[in-house]
Amino acid sequence: MTQARTYTVDLIAGDGIGQEVVPAATRVVDALADRHGFRVAWRERQWGSAYFFEHGRMMPVDGIEILSDGDAILLGAVGHPELPDHETLWGLLIPIRREFLQYINLRPVRVLPGVVSPLRGVDDLDIVVVRENVEGEYSAVGGRVYRGAAEEFALQEAVFTRTGVTRVARYAAELAASRSGSLTSATKSNGIIHSMPFWDEVVSSVVEDYDGVELKSVLVDALAAALVLRPHDFDVIVASNLFGDILSDLIAALAGSIGIAPSANINPPRDHPSMFEPIHGSAPDIAGKGIANPTGQLWSASLMLDHLGEPAAAAGLMSAIDEVMAAGIRTADLGGSAGTEDFTAAVLRAVASS
Ligand code: ATP
Ligand code: MG
Repeated sequence: MTQARTYTVDLIAGDGIGQEVVPAATRVVDALADRHGFRVAWRERQWGSAYFFEHGRMMPVDGIEILSDGDAILLGAVGHPELPDHETLWGLLIPIRREFLQYINLRPVRVLPGVVSPLRGVDDLDIVVVRENVEGEYSAVGGRVYRGAAEEFALQEAVFTRTGVTRVARYAAELAASRSGSLTSATKSNGIIHSMPFWDEVVSSVVEDYDGVELKSVLVDALAAALVLRPHDFDVIVASNLFGDILSDLIAALAGSIGIAPSANINPPRDHPSMFEPIHGSAPDIAGKGIANPTGQLWSASLMLDHLGEPAAAAGLMSAIDEVMAAGIRTADLGGSAGTEDFTAAVLRAVASS
């Protein structure tokens, strides 16, 4: 008897609607696993804000060690109205990204069937943002001096390394080569005169090795405008940690709802687990009502399946979502009346009939 392929996935549903959309994703993944001949061994981790209120931290002291032997991490959301964002970010998300060297933050955006973009005439948008995820502007280097005095100042350093820029550029170039060949790099070398010219130099020297890839370096301010005016001009965008954060939220908004957009925090060499999470937060305003859109979580699970080496199941999940959206089954954020459960049940039916 042959043993089914088994993947060990740590599950951090976290806070708010994370508790509603993560179970939707595990049900759908289990259904796909049945059809495609593999198994997922889920390891539930009750970490997040509730854990914080009990233990004074977002995850156990040895949280990173606990996760380190898994194949992937599926995360819902962490955040609580009574906890400052830096507590939830630096207490869980950022340590996981950094300790597991998840230096790629991948954010695909597509306008799903039947969804109306807030931009007129945009119904076939298909863009991937490759954001540098462990260095750059989000650095702990710096400080505040002369607190409270008139002379007080804050200094915040950005750190760009040749290794860091090379590897994100390489990942983006490979992705561009597998798509249309168009790669846009976000820069600001006219105003940020040390790190951004360095970014430009390294990115363009990496991309020279890729024959079929055409690189355009665009100032991030102009790029933000162009993404709204001519989104179809773009396919793969590579950006630093801060610029990538801002641009990917902008593009995700063009896709109709924050409830749709997925993200992957990837360690490409696979020395450590990668983490998959929707870009939305805990959404305390709608938590517990059963109306959250599970699409961002489901799409993140699809990215995870792809990363685990199950591309057929990953594609099957995306076609199931497309089918359900095309059939007009939509959650409230997209103007529909389906609840999380209705939408998930429809996706499960689409999987079963595929
Ligand atoms: P956090 O502090 O965890 O980031 P937040 O409220 O700041 O939470 P989001 O959770 O991203 O940020 O929510 C922003 C808005 O989008 C809220 O009004 C929320 O209800 C809505 N929203 C977010 N995710 C979804 C979803 N999956 N389905 C429907 N609405 C959503
Ligand atoms: Mg928030």
